[in-house]
Amino acid sequence: MRKRIVAGNWKMNTDVATGVKLASDLMQLLKVQPAPENVGVAIAPPFTHLSEVSKVIDPSKICLASQNCASEAKGAYTGEVSVEMLKSVDVMAVIIGHSERRAYYKEDYATLAKKVDLTIQGGLRPIFCCGEVLEERNAGIQNKIVEAQLKESLFHLSNEDFSKVIIAYEPVWAIGTGVVASPEQAQEIHKFIRSLVAARYGAQIADDLTILYGGSCKSSNAVEIFSKPDVDGGLIGGAALDAAEFHKIVQSF
Ligand code: PEP
Repeated sequence: MRKRIVAGNWKMNTDVATGVKLASDLMQLLKVQPAPENVGVAIAPPFTHLSEVSKVIDPSKICLASQNCASEAKGAYTGEVSVEMLKSVDVMAVIIGHSERRAYYKEDYATLAKKVDLTIQGGLRPIFCCGEVLEERNAGIQNKIVEAQLKESLFHLSNEDFSKVIIAYEPVWAIGTGVVASPEQAQEIHKFIRSLVAARYGAQIADDLTILYGGSCKSSNAVEIFSKPDVDGGLIGGAALDAAEFHKIVQSF
């Protein structure tokens, strides 16, 4: 059965103490009002916070994720953090290909494919981000852009490995802008993504695939967006920095 997920991407926000408090507050809220059945909750704090945050969350209630990983397994790569290092602090999932990484750090298709491979080889789940920029949406080529992103960095995977992938569709024009995609726009492209996966991996794998929407999602718009049949939850940026607001989004199914 297809899993619903709400994942919080904290980006480069909070210091360690504030991040630990945010995670503890969310844990308390989930103890009082657990996530709906079949809804998973994940948080992706900065690397520096992972070890401390892992001590205050119950992994059966909150999955610990990272915002990135190295594209190499180990060695002389100053400043990088490997999948093995992430595993050692109980990380279970890795956000890969966020539009900020693609835009500011020039992460290309091949680099992202290597990160996906290492993540899966390490037994972790990739949360793979895709999505078009505003000019591409205005030109009506969003499907073409997303198709290339998936084909070039994911579609080399075997059926078994692809089954570990979570996809997050995040239109870049909606990230951090307050402009949210309409539920119809989200549904249309999520359905398209599922059809691409069905053509490559078959109907069952496509049906089981979790596809998250990301881009200015909040408790005030989550219910409508999550009600669409091919939208299986959200990747949440700004609104994940407030435990009560994020908890409300978790309840939006
Ligand atoms: C994100 O960065 O993944 C994101 C969805 O951000 P926001 O919710 O702030 O638009």
